[in-house]
Amino acid sequence: MITEIAENLYRVTLPMPFRLRHVHAYALDCGRSITLFDTGMHMPGAYEKLEADLESIGFSAARISDIYLTHTHTDHCGLTERLQEKSGARLHLTEIARQMHAHFEEGDYLIAEARAFYTRHGMTARDVEAVIEEIEDMKSRLPRLEVSTFLKDNEIRRAGNRTFEVIFTPGHAAGHACFFFRDEGLLLAGDHILPYIPPSLSPNIYDEIFLPLSSYLASLTVIENLPITVVHPGHGNSFGGVRERIDEIRAHHALKKEVLLNLVDRTPKTTFGICAQLIGAAAATWDDWEKFMALNETFVYLQQLRRDGQIRETLTNGVLYYTAD
Ligand SMILES: [Zn+2]
Repeated sequence: MITEIAENLYRVTLPMPFRLRHVHAYALDCGRSITLFDTGMHMPGAYEKLEADLESIGFSAARISDIYLTHTHTDHCGLTERLQEKSGARLHLTEIARQMHAHFEEGDYLIAEARAFYTRHGMTARDVEAVIEEIEDMKSRLPRLEVSTFLKDNEIRRAGNRTFEVIFTPGHAAGHACFFFRDEGLLLAGDHILPYIPPSLSPNIYDEIFLPLSSYLASLTVIENLPITVVHPGHGNSFGGVRERIDEIRAHHALKKEVLLNLVDRTPKTTFGICAQLIGAAAATWDDWEKFMALNETFVYLQQLRRDGQIRETLTNGVLYYTAD
């Protein structure tokens, strides 16, 4: 489905095999060419769907001149390689998003790091292998990227007769950026702000200095201070009232952080143990991906609580345990 959301700007809804079921890319008609924001996922039918949608507005994938990525999660960047092959489009993304993607290209090293990370956080060998399978699956869906330029925070880019601002919004992903069309008050938000669910937070296993939660909350404040009329997200419907949505997401994280803090006591527990306690009986109905995401998020909160000095972390026999008085 392709929908004109502003003059010459289109939302292209593309399939996803799991969870959210769809992802949006945004296509700007620049007269002779198309500038594309995110690409959708590399999966059967997605490329053909994008091509058919572009044809319905008088273009084709071959006429994409530029691709901007909000971040390099597979559902947002998956078709980049195929589209660049077809069109020779220039690719623009943040340097950190490029680095995150490069870690996946390292293959065996990534797998070894992930295995060590999740073992250190108390996962059983069986569950670690389930995580590795998820990472292998993500890896298989990632494209090769031919980067033209790295985006800078607050820089102004031109596409056709429009200009837009690059707004760095680390949190959901370390190298995440949004694109703000100030004249129209229009934000292409990627996964920074979603209408129905709080965007997931995951650790950067290569960089435990990066704090996804505090970075994410700081990035919400950046967005809150922009004169936004409408948000066009990577998933779900477009929406106004961005400040109210930001307040809801903040409240969600404050509550969740509190719940997590209450689960940490004098008995040393691992991230995995605390996560299992958090999920409780629901775990029986969750698939490996959902458990993986829950563990990641538990880690993100524990990491933040530790930095805030509210809990302690100790390493015993290669496994990290958390305690509080
Ligand atoms: Zn994402």
